[in-house]
Amino acid sequence: MNCKHERKVTTKYPVYNQFTGDEETYDHIDTYSTFEDIDLHRYKCTQCGEIGYYSGTARDYYEKGIKSEILRLQ
Ligand SMILES: [Zn+2]
Repeated sequence: MNCKHERKVTTKYPVYNQFTGDEETYDHIDTYSTFEDIDLHRYKCTQCGEIGYYSGTARDYYEKGIKSEILRLQ
């Protein structure tokens, strides 16, 4: 699956067309990130489960177990 880590929400608005006098529907699309914070320094996509890190230090800690004073993690 090729996840873009985002979801789209379409809101329909009625729009008056001044040329035809008709009411038309305009689709407004909002795009939201699907990343959620799961710890202090990392986040996860709720759709595909991919984990991202806010810093290289955080990545080293979670992937390699390298502790850092900066993170204040146990
Ligand atoms: Zn994703």
